[in-house]
Amino acid sequence: MIPYGRQDISDADVQAVVEVLKSDWLTQGPSIPAFEQAVADRCNAAHAVAVSNATGALHIACLALGVGPGDIVWTAPNTFVASANCALYCGADVDFVDIDARTYNMSINALREKLIKAKIAGRLPKVVIPVHFAGQSCDMREMRELADTYDFSIIEDASHAIGGRYLDGAVGNCRYSDITVFSFHPVKIITTAEGGMALTNDVSLDQRLRLFRSHGVTRDTALMHGDSEGPWYYQQVELGYNYRMTDIQAALGLTQLTRLDEFCERRRQIAARYDAAFEGVSIVPPWQSPDTSSALHLYPILCAQGTNRRGMFDALRAAGIGVNVHYFPVHLQPYYQKFGFKRGDFPEAENYYARTISLPMYASMSDESVQRVIDAVVTVAQG
Ligand SMILES: *Cc1c(COP(=O)(O)O)cnc(C)c1O
Repeated sequence: MIPYGRQDISDADVQAVVEVLKSDWLTQGPSIPAFEQAVADRCNAAHAVAVSNATGALHIACLALGVGPGDIVWTAPNTFVASANCALYCGADVDFVDIDARTYNMSINALREKLIKAKIAGRLPKVVIPVHFAGQSCDMREMRELADTYDFSIIEDASHAIGGRYLDGAVGNCRYSDITVFSFHPVKIITTAEGGMALTNDVSLDQRLRLFRSHGVTRDTALMHGDSEGPWYYQQVELGYNYRMTDIQAALGLTQLTRLDEFCERRRQIAARYDAAFEGVSIVPPWQSPDTSSALHLYPILCAQGTNRRGMFDALRAAGIGVNVHYFPVHLQPYYQKFGFKRGDFPEAENYYARTISLPMYASMSDESVQRVIDAVVTVAQG
């Protein structure tokens, strides 16, 4: 079975991990600040905080922005559950903004309309979490304008999108947002096994992210209440967590990062071959906005209107193609239906879900595998 995604681990990656294992530090060593700096430099952000995974990064991003009981956080329904759960962890409420039918990202028009209503109702969101679905950035310039008008913060869930670009900048530069989060799960663009990162240009958010990452504890006298009692002394000033990355993971991340361009280039080659092969075939390939260069975490096709997605999915799996579906709309998860969300609430996300299939897409995919996927899709779509 050709998987829908998988990691690409080189000898240099293995060597980097082995070197850490033989060194003095397994947890908090020099690879972590080196990896943080390398990602910040690469993305043109001022600060980067390495975290145990993107779920933890989203959680501490919400905490750093002061999300708590009584607040509302909005995200898109077409995402992994973690984009919404992070707000619930903080005791806040979650609501969703429907997606754009072309990009499958949060719709700016739907956001604008929902903000107008929320302002009248006195229930404006504290934070909005756009998700750069499949690696393609949301329309961040428009979102920034709305954030300035309606006074909310923005966390970009860029779990799919390291290596992507928006307008003339790298995703992660936080030019239009408060915090950007990356995931380094093995199916994502680069991997540290488990791992994530939160980037920001705001020095006080950086401090708060670091506090929440590690128990709310600090050795920085500037953050202490009263004086330090000596070199051994630390203070807990917030209720934080243990969301630290290990030095082993950071070393892997550093070597993976050196191949980020190569990985994205290979993904673009594969997408270009898919695009060309599917011309005239009755499926809808993913649309790419001219404002963006996608990192292409996913290649989601839509089955032709009115055709049987389940039949096509099963036929592709039977042909050895490890297709998948991203995503079952979060508001329809049983846990979220408890809050009163129901079918019909976000029709674009539901329509998209009913028709989508994610084709295999990963940097180490061979040309032969790409051809097998193309042949199977063309056969099944015409059959
Ligand atoms: C993978 C993913 C996450 C969670 O990432 P982890 O590193 O596995 O915690 C969050 N949001 C989206 C959109 C993702 O795809």
